Amino acid sequence: MTYITTSNKPVITVMLDTLMDQPLQLALKEETLPAFTYFMEHGTYYSSVVAPFPTMSVNVESTLLTGHYSDQHGIPALTWYSEKENRIINYGTHLIDQMKLGLSKCLKDTLYRLNNEHLNTKVKTIHEELDEQGKKSASINPLVNRGNVPHRLTIPSFIRFFVTIDKHIETQTAAKYVYGRLSRLDPNGKYSSVWHKYGFNNKFSAQEFTHLVNNHDIPDFSLVYLPDHDKNVHKRGPMDTKGIKEMDKNLQTMLDSFPTWQEALDNHIWILIGDNGQSGIKDDKTQAFVDLRKLLKPLKVTKLSKGVRKEDQVVLANNLRSCFIYSLDTDDVPLTEIVEKLKTEERFDMISWKIDQWIHVAAGDKKESFQFKEGGKVKDEFDQTWEIRGDHSILDLTITGNDVTFGDFPDALKRLHSTLHSHEGDFVVISAKPGYELRGEVTPSHAGGASHGGFHKNDSLIPMLVTGTETTPDFFRMVDLKKWILALTSS
Ligand SMILES: [Zn+2]
Repeated sequence: MTYITTSNKPVITVMLDTLMDQPLQLALKEETLPAFTYFMEHGTYYSSVVAPFPTMSVNVESTLLTGHYSDQHGIPALTWYSEKENRIINYGTHLIDQMKLGLSKCLKDTLYRLNNEHLNTKVKTIHEELDEQGKKSASINPLVNRGNVPHRLTIPSFIRFFVTIDKHIETQTAAKYVYGRLSRLDPNGKYSSVWHKYGFNNKFSAQEFTHLVNNHDIPDFSLVYLPDHDKNVHKRGPMDTKGIKEMDKNLQTMLDSFPTWQEALDNHIWILIGDNGQSGIKDDKTQAFVDLRKLLKPLKVTKLSKGVRKEDQVVLANNLRSCFIYSLDTDDVPLTEIVEKLKTEERFDMISWKIDQWIHVAAGDKKESFQFKEGGKVKDEFDQTWEIRGDHSILDLTITGNDVTFGDFPDALKRLHSTLHSHEGDFVVISAKPGYELRGEVTPSHAGGASHGGFHKNDSLIPMLVTGTETTPDFFRMVDLKKWILALTSS
């Protein structure tokens, strides 16, 4: 295959898990951050880019790569219930969840089905579009990575000792493909042992990127994912800066692989971006966790280890601070029955479900409800039009004439609309207020720390730092970045 050579600057996108504006600003003041400071001095900083809902990594990555919300890309969240397969899909919420659901099934979901079956083939990823233009791209460690180039993953024997899974998995991805130890560029690379999460860590991602630099093989687009900061914030709370210092070191590793930092910036476009934010969780466990099974009593909720059984009425797919609640038979349990139970809980800031064209929204502490549907004469800040009725304060909308602006819930209407159209099934989606996490069969463990998955702006707004271009996406939303990135690679 011949590749078109262009004079374009390659686009290097670094996704820094859980990078948030306020702690970054604090860290820039209080810590020594040579790399972030250098990027800041030479680039433009945008404090608030909207992530998709639920604010979970696979949904975020799918939205970035396809330029669509989940109604089009088809990956609803980290865990969801597939009506077609009549089972809960889980790409990795918690090891205990996955053990209950069956580890080999979950691994196959994550390693194969996510990219090759669940991600809608009717939409194209950045990797696929670039390949069709004769350009190359790199995917370094994100879970979502579909492209046109066949690759073979090799499952380490240590994993196969515990889990029944094929030794090799064939997948279609970017030309340059890193997926932890399972697929790497640098055969001599460090940081990929079982103790290093098989390479799913920041140091490995940064080191693999430097392999491309050292070999003068930086493609037109790279997505480098640094996963580690998520767990720091889960544990130590939203204002943790220790993890930001560590990410600065990873960025230094990447910059140092070029002859000079100036050369790194002069000859490339850099996009540093978070993936989702997190909300602080209360210290007191009795307060912090909302017990969903208790709230839904006496309805019979599917047990993870048993799978969906005939007598079950409700399935829960719990994404930390948000949850999909499915009725398996709406003649038996109408969605409104579930909603009435949920409305008794004041710690929910959003309860939403769809009836025909209309999206209905309630909240734990409001008597009225709110409805909206696509089309109509009301226009929001992202040029999307809606018909609305009821109490719009539930979604913290400000309406001036026919113009809608958002408050606590960025891009609230489109994000909810897409979530409720992301997959088949009769379900309600809920989100907890900041301070709270949802408890299903497995108790969450982030009391006194932080968590995400929610609809609130704490979970939904992320910063972006750009060097090498003055252009901006149409809007500051994750969903608008693909179009902009493709333009950057062809300008
Ligand atoms: Zn997380």
